Amino acid sequence: MIEKTFNGEEITRLVNVIEENSSFLIIGHIDPDGDCIGSMLAMALFLRAKGKKVLCYAPGESGKDFSSLPGFDMFADENEITSFSPSVVFSLDAPTIARTSDVIAYEDHRIVINIDHHPSNEFYGDINIVDPEASATAVLVYRIMSEIQPESITRDIADCLYVGILLDTGGFKFQNTDAEVFRTASALVERGARAFELAREFLYVKKLSTLKLLARALDSLEVHAGGKIAFMTITSDMIVENGSSMSETEGFVDYAASVDEVVLSALFREISSNETRVSLRSRDDYDVALFASRFGGGGHRNAAGLTIYKGIEEAKRIILEGLEEVLNSHS
Ligand code: 5GP
Ligand code: MN
Repeated sequence: MIEKTFNGEEITRLVNVIEENSSFLIIGHIDPDGDCIGSMLAMALFLRAKGKKVLCYAPGESGKDFSSLPGFDMFADENEITSFSPSVVFSLDAPTIARTSDVIAYEDHRIVINIDHHPSNEFYGDINIVDPEASATAVLVYRIMSEIQPESITRDIADCLYVGILLDTGGFKFQNTDAEVFRTASALVERGARAFELAREFLYVKKLSTLKLLARALDSLEVHAGGKIAFMTITSDMIVENGSSMSETEGFVDYAASVDEVVLSALFREISSNETRVSLRSRDDYDVALFASRFGGGGHRNAAGLTIYKGIEEAKRIILEGLEEVLNSHS
C-alpha cells in the first residue's frame, strides 16, 4: 500500500519551521528535471519573499537549460554550498537521500523537509509531505502554498510551478494527467503563468544539435517481442560526433514509447565501456519502477530509470530478457 503523508499536521509543522528559521538550503535529485527545478525555485522564491536566506543545489546536469526561470540566481555550486550553514534543508522531488547528495542533507542537526511524489519515497525527512498520487512535486508545492498563504503565489512562482507540471506530464499527455493537474495549471495561469511562452521554451524549441542527435537516435530504433518492446540507443561516439552532451537526450525515450503497439520502451545511453544509463517507459499497469528497482533504480510506474554497470550491448541483452519476462508474466 502506498503511503501518503500530505496532511494538516505536517503542514502546521512546516509553517512553524519556516517561521522559526532564517536560512534554507533547497536540494533536488541528481540530474534535476523540470519538475524538480520548478518546485525548488518556487519554494526558494516563496521563502526569499519572507526575507529568508536561500540557496538551491542539485547534483549532476539538467537535460534542459532552466536558467531563464525566475529565481535561478539562487542556484549555487558545490563550493558555495559547503560553506553555507542552513538550519533547514528542503529536499524536493527526491525519493531517497541517495538521489540527492548525502553530504548535504544529513550534516548536523539540520531539519530536513521531504516533499515528493515518488511511490518509493523513503520518508527520510523530519517532516515528510509525500503523495504518490500527485502527478508532480509542483502540484504538491502548489497545494502547500495554497494552504499556507495563497496570496504569496506570485507570477514568478506560478511560472516555476507551471513548468514543473508541464514537464512531468509531458505537456498534459502522460498517464498522470488528472483533474488536479488541470485545476492547478488553470489556477497558475490565473496567477500569471505564461503558458504559451513556457511551452514553447521548454517543450517545443530545441537546439539544432539536439534535433540532429534525435535523428540518429530515431535511426537506432528497434522493436522486439513482436513489436511490444522498443529500444533506442545513444553511444558515446554519437554524442562526440554530434558535438552534443548526453543530457540533450532527455525526452528521447518518449519517441520509442510513441511507436504504435509498443507497451515497454527503453533508451540506452552509453556512459562508458562498463556503464549504461537506461530510461524506461511503459503503458497502463506495466510497472517499470518495480523493474528498475531490481537493478537499484526506481521512478514511477510508467517512467523509471536505472544504471547498469555493463557495456551497452550487454546491458541491452539483460534488459531485453527482463522486459520480455515482464511482458510474459502480465496477464
Ligand atoms: P528518466 O528516464 O526521465 O531519467 O527518469 C524517469 C523517472 O525515473 C524520474 O521520475 C526519475 O526521477 C526516476 N529515475 C531515473 N533514474 C533513476 C534511478 O537511477 N534511481 C531512482 N530511484 N529513480 C530514477
Ligand atoms: Mn517529479
